Amino acid sequence: MTVRVRFAPSPTGRLHVGNIRTGLINWLFARAQGGQFVLRIDDTDLERSTKEYEQGIETDLTWLGMVWDEKHSQSARFPLYREAMERLKAAGRLYPCYETGEELDRRRKVQLSRGQPPVYDRAALKLTEAERAALEAEGRRPHWRFRLEGKRVKWEDLARGACEVDTASMSDPVLIREDGAFLYTLPSVVDDIDMAITHVIRGEDHVTNTGAQIEIFEALGAKSPQFAHTTLLVGADGEGLSKRLGSLSIMDLREGGYEPLAIVSHLARIGTSDPLEPGESIEALAAAFTFGKMARHPGRYDQADLARLNAAVLHAMDYSQAQPRLANLGADLGELFWLAIRANLGLFSGASNWARVVGGTVEPLIAEEDRPVIAAALDLLPAELDGGSWSVLTNAVKERTGAKGKGLFMPLRRALTGLDHGPEMAMLLPLIGREKAARRLAGETA
Ligand code: GLU
Repeated sequence: MTVRVRFAPSPTGRLHVGNIRTGLINWLFARAQGGQFVLRIDDTDLERSTKEYEQGIETDLTWLGMVWDEKHSQSARFPLYREAMERLKAAGRLYPCYETGEELDRRRKVQLSRGQPPVYDRAALKLTEAERAALEAEGRRPHWRFRLEGKRVKWEDLARGACEVDTASMSDPVLIREDGAFLYTLPSVVDDIDMAITHVIRGEDHVTNTGAQIEIFEALGAKSPQFAHTTLLVGADGEGLSKRLGSLSIMDLREGGYEPLAIVSHLARIGTSDPLEPGESIEALAAAFTFGKMARHPGRYDQADLARLNAAVLHAMDYSQAQPRLANLGADLGELFWLAIRANLGLFSGASNWARVVGGTVEPLIAEEDRPVIAAALDLLPAELDGGSWSVLTNAVKERTGAKGKGLFMPLRRALTGLDHGPEMAMLLPLIGREKAARRLAGETA
C-alpha cells in the first residue's frame, strides 16, 4: 500500500503556523513512509475562497520546501459530490430539512432550558410528502442532513490512540446548504475515497467530525482511512493561538526574515520528545518523524524559540548557501567574512551591518581614558594582518600598557568596529584590513 496523505487548506486566508503545522506533519509522514503528499484546495465556499489566497498557499509551501505530488481543487469536483449526494439520498441517509436558523436556535434554547442536549430532533424526518410540498410552496428550500446511525464509532488514532465518538449524542450534520452549496464534510470524504487517501492527519478539533465522516465512508461503501488527530498549538502563555494568528502567518514570518528551515524545524519539533533544534534539512526532519514522538499535551509555540532556531540555522549555514543571498544584500565579502559573522546573526539581513563594519565606513568609539591603549595599538599594528595578528597585537599592547582583559579588548573593539559587541576580533581584523584598521585607531571615520 502506498501511503497517501492530503493537506486540505481552505483558500480563505493566509496559512498560519497552526495550519501549516498540520500540513508539515502530513508532509513529514508521507516522506518518512515513502508516500505521496496531495495538496487539496478546499474551495467549495465559492464566496470566501480566492485565487490570491490559493496562490499564497502554493507560495508558502514552496518556500518551506513542502513540495506536493498532486494538487486538486474541490471547486472542480462538484459532479462527484453530486453523485455521492444522490447515492446517499437513494439510500435514505440524506434527508431534506426546512427549519430556518432562528427556528433551530429557538429549539436549542428550549432543549437547554430543559436540561437536554441541544441535538437536532429530526423533526424533518417525520414530515409527510404533503407537509414538505406545503413548505416548498411557501418558498422554503431544503438543506440536507446526513442521518447518523447513532452508535459508538471507534478508530485507532495514530496520534491519540483508541478513540470513540458516540454519534447518538450528535446532531445529524448538514451536508448541503439550502442554496445547494456543499459544506466541508461530504466533499472531504468523497475526495478521500476518490484520491485513495490512506491517512487523514489533521488537528484534534476535527475529532467529532471524524465520527460522522466514518459513518459517511461506510454509507458510501468505502473503507475509512486511518486517522491521526494532532494536538493544537498554544501560545507561550498556554492560551490558544487563534487571537494572534494574523501575526503568525507564514508570509509575515518570511517577510520578518525567518529561515524556512528554522520554521519547519520549530513546527516539526514543538510538542515532541525531540529537542528544539534545527534539523539539517526538511528531508532529515522527515526521516526522523514518527507519531510516537508526539506528546499528548498541546505544543507551545513561542516566537523566542523560533528566533533561537533561526540563529542556529544561520550559525550552521555553509558559505555556498549563503553566498547568493549575501550578494543580493551587497554584502558578499567572501567565505572568511561569512564564517566570521554567521554566529552573530539573528536574521540573515544582519549580514549587511557586518559588511559595513568590515568593508564600509565606521565611526570609531574612543573614550578619553582608552587613548593610551589605542595609541599603542596603532603603533604596534602588524604590517600584514592575518588570523594570528589579533593575538600578536593584543599581547604587544598588553606588554606596553599593562591593560588586560576587558580593559584591553573592549577599547580596541570599539575603536575598530564602532560597536561594543560582535564577531571575534581575530577573524574581523584581517577582514577590516590594515589601512582601515590604522585609520580607525587614529580616530578617523574610515
Ligand atoms: N479544509 C479543512 C480545514 O482546513 C480540512 C480538514 C481536513 O483535513 O479534513 O479544516
